[in-house]
Amino acid sequence: MVECHMDELTVDINMIACSGVGLCAHLAPEDIGLDAWGFPILLNGKIHSPDQVRRAASSCPRRALSVLTSSD
Ligand code: SF4
Repeated sequence: MVECHMDELTVDINMIACSGVGLCAHLAPEDIGLDAWGFPILLNGKIHSPDQVRRAASSCPRRALSVLTSSD
C-alpha cells in the first residue's frame, strides 16, 4: 500500500490490487502519473485537482485507489 497525505486528503494506492492499466493517470493527469511499468505514482506533494483524483478513484476497475478526507 502506498499512502500519501496531501492537505486534508489521503490517497492510498493498493499496488497488489492495481492492474497497472493506467486509467487513473488518464483521468487525473495533473496529480497521477505512471511509472516505467505502468503503475500509478503521485506526482506532487499537493493535490492540484481533488475532483479529478476522486473521479479516478471511483472509476478504478480494481478499487485499488482510494481518497479519504480528514473527516472520513
Ligand atoms: S485505475 Fe486502478 S487499477 Fe488502473 S492503474 Fe489506476 S489504481 Fe491501478
